[in-house]
Amino acid sequence: MRILVVEDDAPLAEVLRRGLTEDGYATDVVGKLVDAINAVQVNDYDLVILDRGLPDGDGRTLCAQMRADGDGTAVLMLTARDGLGEKVEGLDAGADDYLTKPFDYPELTARIRALLRRPANAQSPVLAHGSLEMDPASRRVSRSSITIPLTAREFSLLEVLLRAPDTTHARTDLLEHVWDANYDGLSNVVDVHIANLRRKLELPGMDDPIETVRGVGYRLTPESDA
Ligand code: CA
Repeated sequence: MRILVVEDDAPLAEVLRRGLTEDGYATDVVGKLVDAINAVQVNDYDLVILDRGLPDGDGRTLCAQMRADGDGTAVLMLTARDGLGEKVEGLDAGADDYLTKPFDYPELTARIRALLRRPANAQSPVLAHGSLEMDPASRRVSRSSITIPLTAREFSLLEVLLRAPDTTHARTDLLEHVWDANYDGLSNVVDVHIANLRRKLELPGMDDPIETVRGVGYRLTPESDA
């Protein structure tokens, strides 16, 4: 899951970047409206956290423009005051939810999980494919009811595969959804993480649940075999 944070308050932006990254979200941060408009056009986000008061304009402008462009990405708006007017204006501009500053981080993550569970983003609370199960809320993964501990990145990678189990995912696609824009490490990082994921998921006597599609990328092994 990839999140864009639009926040010009640098300390708050840093807290969000660190927390969300630790929670396993690929997180990009921008501080200006103009950079945010560019980011949503270039990248495919699952959620945008949008401050209203930005140095070069009102966050509502971005939200309204996304909706006008047919972009249904979930938007969580941050407002400085708890005025009814602010709330209504944000929701009118197409925001899905709003949070008044100051807020507690756990409340923010609860709102994020709720937004990512919406029908537009998720089919059911628990994702399953063959013997493989994932509960995004509790971040628990199991195979044939045996719990498998995964790192945050491995979890995100598997979540992308499980949300579209019949799709072959290109490496660039996986990179885009699981790593953020500043990632400039190894070019084979996706392959390395897929290999680790396979090692953990391939319990004794079980098949490899991930299939390599030569020259393209990865997908889940069709369900009858998994
Ligand atoms: Ca601000």
